[in-house]
Amino acid sequence: MMSKKRVCIIGGVAGGASVAARIRRLDEHADIIMFEKGPHVSFSNCALPFYLSGMIDDSDKLVLMQPDTFLKRYHIDARVHHEVVKIDAEQQILHIKHVLTGEMIQEPYDTLYLSPGAKPIMPKNISGIEKDHVFSVRNVVDIKAIDSYIKEHDVKHAAVVGGGYIGLEIMENLKERGLEVTLIEAANQVMRPIDFDMVQIVHQEIVSKGVELVVGEAVCAIHNDHLLTNQGKSIQAEIVIMAIGVLPEVALAVDAGIKLGKTGAIEVDHNFKTNLKNIYAVGDAIEVHHALLHKTTRLTLAGPAQRQARAAADHLYGRVVKNKGFIGSSSVKVFDMNIASTGLNANQCLENDIRFDSVYIIASDKVSIIPDAKPMHLKLLYEVPTGKILGCQAVGKGDVVKRVDVAAAMITMDAHIDDLKDLELCYSPLFSTAKDPLNHAALVALNVINGEYKEVKVSEVRDLVSKGAFIMDVRESHEYEQGHIKGSHHIPMSVFRERLKDIPKDQPVYIHCRSGQRSYNVVRALMQLGYHDVYNISGSFLGISYYEYYMDQKLSRDPIVTQYNFN
Ligand code: FAD
Repeated sequence: MMSKKRVCIIGGVAGGASVAARIRRLDEHADIIMFEKGPHVSFSNCALPFYLSGMIDDSDKLVLMQPDTFLKRYHIDARVHHEVVKIDAEQQILHIKHVLTGEMIQEPYDTLYLSPGAKPIMPKNISGIEKDHVFSVRNVVDIKAIDSYIKEHDVKHAAVVGGGYIGLEIMENLKERGLEVTLIEAANQVMRPIDFDMVQIVHQEIVSKGVELVVGEAVCAIHNDHLLTNQGKSIQAEIVIMAIGVLPEVALAVDAGIKLGKTGAIEVDHNFKTNLKNIYAVGDAIEVHHALLHKTTRLTLAGPAQRQARAAADHLYGRVVKNKGFIGSSSVKVFDMNIASTGLNANQCLENDIRFDSVYIIASDKVSIIPDAKPMHLKLLYEVPTGKILGCQAVGKGDVVKRVDVAAAMITMDAHIDDLKDLELCYSPLFSTAKDPLNHAALVALNVINGEYKEVKVSEVRDLVSKGAFIMDVRESHEYEQGHIKGSHHIPMSVFRERLKDIPKDQPVYIHCRSGQRSYNVVRALMQLGYHDVYNISGSFLGISYYEYYMDQKLSRDPIVTQYNFN
C-alpha cells in the first residue's frame, strides 16, 4: 500500500487553495494542511474593489469558503491566523506562529507548496506613508478597513496612487460611491500593458467621468488632508490608497535557502519545483517563463496561479504536465469602457528587439443598426516578416474581452494573421458582425504586410498637420461640421471621383473618415486611379479625437481638430 502523504501549503487563497483542492481530488488519503496568516482562506482578491461601491454589498460574500467547509467537504485542514515563520528544509519541518495568541507550533511535511503571494509596494521614501489614512488593498481586512475609515471620517476626497488594474478598479468604485477621486500615476499613462495610443481612450473615459487624472507625476509626500507630487502639485485627499505594484513574498523562502531568479521572484522548474527537495512554489511569488519572450518574467494574475497550482499538484502524483509558459492576458473595466490585452505590447517588442508592426481598427462590435452597437478599438500586433500574432488589445463599451480571448487562444497556438483572417467565429447581428473585428484586423494586417496599401498611425497625425501635409477627409458634410482636422481637405467619398483634380498627385495624400472603412476604400480606388503615395490614417477621426484629447488638456496645447468627436 502507498504510504500516506503529508502535504503542507503556505498561503490559503488563489494558488494555495487550488493546490489543496487538486491534491484532494487526486488523493483521498493525503493529509493536507493549509496555513494562512490572515483571517480568511479562499477569498476573491479580484472582487475586493467592488465592495467599496456597494456592488458587492456584504464583505462575507468576498469569502468563498470557510475553514470548516474545507474540513467537512474536502477533509482539508485550513488553519487561519497561522503564519509560517520558518521552513526547516533539511528536517522538512515548518515553524508556525499563531498570529493572535503568539503560540508556536511545528508541523512536519513530506511535500511543501508555497503560495504566499505578493505584497503591495509601500515606498518608505514617501513621507507620511505610515499615516493611518494611507491604505493598500490585498485582502478582505484591507478593504473593510478602507470602507470603515471612509464612513467614520466622512471622507469626501480620495487619492488613488497607481494606475494599474487594481488602482483603476479602486478609483472607479470610490467614484461610484460618491467620493471626489484623483488618480495619480508616475508613468505617462495608466494600464501599462496597453499601448500609449490605445490607452488615450481610457484617459478620456476617466476624465469624462469626473476623476482628476494626474499622469507623469510621482507622489512624494502624504499629509493629513492632501498629498504632494514631485512636480509640486497639491492634491486634496483625506484617504490615500496605494496601488503602485506588488513585490513577491520571498523572505521566508530565501531564509530557507530557496533560490530566487533574476526577477527577484522564486525560481521554479518546468513542474514548479524549487531548488529544494520536495518544495514547490506557485502564484505571485514565482517567476514564470514568458512564452513569447522566451525569458522569465513576473505575472501576478489569478488564472496563471490556478494553472500553476493544478500542474504542481499533478506533478506530485506523477501526472505529466506540459508547461508551455505564459503570455499574460488581462482585462479591466473603467466606467463604461472595457479593456483587455494579451501577449506583447509595442514597448515589450521594442525592448526585446522583436521586429513587429501593428494595425489599429475601429469596428462595430455588432451590426451597426442594432441599438446598442458600439465602436470597438482593436489593435493587433504581429511579427515582421512572418505575420505571427504577438499581441492584441481592445477597448470599447461592448464585449472586447471575447475578442482578446480569441486572440490569446490564437497566440497560444502560434497562429499567424492568415489564420486569424480565416477564423470562423460565431455571428448573429446581436453579437458581432459577419466579418468579426478580429477577422477585419487580420485582413488589414495582411494588406499592410503584403504592401498592398500603406497607413499611418494616429500618433503621426499631429506631425503631419504641423508639416502642412495633404490630409483628406472623406466624410460627408454633416460629419465634417461636427469636428475635423484643422487644414484638412474635405472631399467626401460620395463625390471624390468627380473631384480628382483637387487631389494632388505630386505629394503624399493622407485619407481618413470616421473610423477607417470608407477611407480604406478611397485609398484603394485612388491607387488604381494613378495615385501612388496615398495613406490611410489608421483609427481615422474617432481614433484621432481620442488620441489627442487627454494630452491636449494635460499640456494645454493647441488642438489639431476643430472639435473632438467621440461618437
Ligand atoms: P494570494 O492569493 O495573494 O494568496 C497568498 C496568501 O498567502 C495571502 O493570503 C497571505 O496572507 C498568505 N501568506 C503569505 N505568507 C504567509 C506565511 N508565511 N504564512 C501563512 N500565510 C502566508 N488577478 C486577475 O487575474 N484578475 C483580476 O481581476 C485581479 N484582480 C485583483 C484585485 C486585487 C485587489 C488584488 C489584490 C489582486 C487581483 N488579482 C487579479 C491578482 C490575483 O488575486 C493574484 O494573482 C492571485 O491571488 C495570486 O495568488 P497567490 O496564491 O499567489 O497569492
